[in-house]
Amino acid sequence: MTVVPGYAAASSDAPLGPVGVERRPPGPTDVAIDITHCGVCHSDLHMTRGEWGPVAYPMVPGHEIVGRVSSVGAEVTGFAPGDRVGVGCMVDSCGRCGSCVDGLEQYCVRVPIWTYGSVEPQTGRPTAGGYSAGIVVDQGFVLRVPESLDPAATAPLLCAGITMWSPLRHWGAGPGTRVGIVGLGGLGHMGIKLAHALGAHVTLFTTSPGKVADATALGADRVVLSKDRAEMSEQAATLDLIVNTVAAPHDLNPYVRALRRDGTMVLVGLPPEPHPAFSPPGLVVARRSIAGSNIGGIRETQEMLDFCGEHGIVSDIERIPMAQINHAWERMLAQDVKYRFVIDMDTLAG
Ligand code: NAP
Ligand code: ZN
Repeated sequence: MTVVPGYAAASSDAPLGPVGVERRPPGPTDVAIDITHCGVCHSDLHMTRGEWGPVAYPMVPGHEIVGRVSSVGAEVTGFAPGDRVGVGCMVDSCGRCGSCVDGLEQYCVRVPIWTYGSVEPQTGRPTAGGYSAGIVVDQGFVLRVPESLDPAATAPLLCAGITMWSPLRHWGAGPGTRVGIVGLGGLGHMGIKLAHALGAHVTLFTTSPGKVADATALGADRVVLSKDRAEMSEQAATLDLIVNTVAAPHDLNPYVRALRRDGTMVLVGLPPEPHPAFSPPGLVVARRSIAGSNIGGIRETQEMLDFCGEHGIVSDIERIPMAQINHAWERMLAQDVKYRFVIDMDTLAG
């Protein structure tokens, strides 16, 4: 057992503070990683504050992890000490169910082992995430991170990037398609970049007038202020696919109306409370769908990282020292982040 420095919350209403995090001795198929950077996802806050249900404390969040391999087990084939690697939201799964066999471990019927907030099968202890100096992960859940990309700005690809990539690919975003992204936060800004790079026409819906210019610079062809009813109704029946990232309950009906016939709105935002009811006729009149999507599988995460390496795509980030994490969470809640905080792990005292 190794103890590495990290940050944890002791309860749902406690701030994050320094702790020692126990890591298991690497087994034969394990990769030990020195974490250099970790992105700050809105899910870290939802989960740590118990907004999705009860969790075990102390809770060490963080699932946008980039680092260097420090050692590998005897049976590890794809990784060697010194390699730049990443770990996202999952660290294990059953490996046998239909979803795991299909490379969609996030839909494992026995539920994947999440990077934090699950029980580690190897030790029976709670899993602890990337707000820490090191982690030990089975090789099947370690990603290769292109050396050409800035490691800090790559960290958010491990959750925000793949959460957008998976629905964009599954629902066929590309040349000739019109894609809407709702919410310009961590997920939303990656959605614009990826949909644009895939060749789709991109419309951003935002509640923040101050983000309009940024959205265009990120690759949006059109920006709509969602609080402006007239502007929203002009979008009726224009989009093939909408990926909705908003982290709070809101009226879905104007977005449903913005879909063309057979269009789909995919919900990826996970507010703690349900959305207000939507109107069935809005779906019925044009064979529209509302769907959901959860991060992405390991194979598609590697595809996304390789695509980003080829196209030079990374996240727009604000780097913070570990000690500023509580302030960063408050700013994230106030929608005051452009567009992802990333923790520099060398600011963690030993
Ligand atoms: P974020 O950076 O906080 O962005 C959320 C954006 O939603 C905001 O920037 C804001 O954009 C918009 N928004 C509009 N009204 C809001 C309100 N009342 N409160 C908060 N946001 C509001 O969050 P994120 O990290 O992108 O995550 C977004 C959501 O996706 C969270 O619920 C998170 O848990 C979830 N998530 C889901 C998955 C998955 O696999 N499905 C993966 C990761 C995260 P504008 O200013 O442009 O309106
Ligand atoms: Zn996340």
